[in-house]
Amino acid sequence: MNATLQIHNPWTGQALTTIPADDAASVAAKAAAARAAQPAWAALPMAERLACITRFRAAVVAQLEDLATTMTRETGKPITLSRNELNGLLPRLDFFLEQAEGAVRDEHVFDGGGMHEQIGHVPLGVVANISAWNYPWFVGCNVIVPALLTGNAVLYKPSEHAALTGGAITRLLHEAGVPAGVMQCLVGGGEVGAALVAQRIDGLFFTGSHATGQRIAMALAPRLVKVQLELGGKDPMYVRADVDVKAAAESLADGAMYNTGQGCCSVERIYVHEAVHDAFVAHFVATVRAMKAGDPMDASTYLGAVTREPQLRVLEAQVADAVAKGATLACGGHRTAGPGWGFEPTVLSGCDHSMEVMREESFGPIVGIQKVASDDEAVERMNDTRYGLTAGVYTKDEAAARALLARVNAGTVYWNCCDRVSPRLPWSGVGDSGIGLTLSTHGIQTFTRPKAWHLRQA
Ligand code: NAD
Repeated sequence: MNATLQIHNPWTGQALTTIPADDAASVAAKAAAARAAQPAWAALPMAERLACITRFRAAVVAQLEDLATTMTRETGKPITLSRNELNGLLPRLDFFLEQAEGAVRDEHVFDGGGMHEQIGHVPLGVVANISAWNYPWFVGCNVIVPALLTGNAVLYKPSEHAALTGGAITRLLHEAGVPAGVMQCLVGGGEVGAALVAQRIDGLFFTGSHATGQRIAMALAPRLVKVQLELGGKDPMYVRADVDVKAAAESLADGAMYNTGQGCCSVERIYVHEAVHDAFVAHFVATVRAMKAGDPMDASTYLGAVTREPQLRVLEAQVADAVAKGATLACGGHRTAGPGWGFEPTVLSGCDHSMEVMREESFGPIVGIQKVASDDEAVERMNDTRYGLTAGVYTKDEAAARALLARVNAGTVYWNCCDRVSPRLPWSGVGDSGIGLTLSTHGIQTFTRPKAWHLRQA
């Protein structure tokens, strides 16, 4: 294994460190080791696997500050948000610890005429997880933890932009008692991901862009391997005329800019009823202007760096395209002056659907705002997308919100909130936002296959 991976600090733009990486031969060896180790892991009583995850949780708590610092240095995520992610992980782990046993318990569905019928939940076997960098603990553990609890071996390829964090997750799981063969980390970029896809695997769980997800699904289709894809979004929100305009603007500004806009469920486009449009834009821009950008290691920083340098050009192009087509640049619009990869929080008003900023994922601190005249127009605009991850409505009228949200094509819908994930609810996308799901009890069962038992007394 002679390959290496260079890690950068997005805030400084400088190289942080270089670590050993995988190559095709080491990926194949790790896949073979996982295959060999999985049956014994699956044969353990559930209580032993639960005990490993309980120890893993305790280690995350004990080492939280170091883990947060590592994540901040390699992703540019502000340190306060890194702490938030790690603290937010704990209830997710608790949910899995509480629910795993019941989710895969045998179901006895019929007894009569000498026949007994039951449904078993059998681990898939060896599953691969190719992951993203924006919330590396969340998206990694959404797959790794329930997959391990249900008796699978995991081949985990963290993003090359969060490889130190991926290594830390793996180390803590090993220290917690998960055997080395059962939980393996593969270090590298797309070529290592592609080498993993080429192995004999029983499930592929991917979080990342639509383009990469589609490539992986096409590679696996002939082999009929179970594939789950958690992909991008262009998440819309609608502000009705009856809202507290200032409160709605503050909530949505946070939803658009949190994690420097780099969330799959970040608010990416906002439709505002014409009766409150101008006041909403004024409050929204004031909120965004007050957000503190700066050194991600400073605890008071809210906006950090853009993690991938090439994304800066995407953001610049979306601003230029929108302005050329008539949008108003209400604030921001440019790279920040520093040495690293910063981008000003940017608000574009007067947008329409001819503009890239209303159609393609920005994945940065940019949001487009469009005026609408009615609920029907808002629904039509919200559904005018190839994506369908989350969508929401801000209104005082619950009945109107429920009626509107029932008409919106998205895996997750929000009333008076946004950019929110719950371990108790399934996380899934419609259209180009993906297939399959994580989280909820369904997101535990998804790492198993149902086995049908027909049993007759002789
Ligand atoms: P990406 O597609 O560039 O990379 C994702 C992973 O795929 C990385 O680990 C990468 O190394 C790997 N990869 C790249 N090429 C590959 C190939 N040919 N074969 C196999 N693996 C390959 O995405 P990203 O930049 O890491 O993440 C950002 C995207 O992820 C955004 O679109 C965002 O919306 C999405 N995302 C979605 C969710 C969700 O839950 N739906 C959560 C977080 C992020």
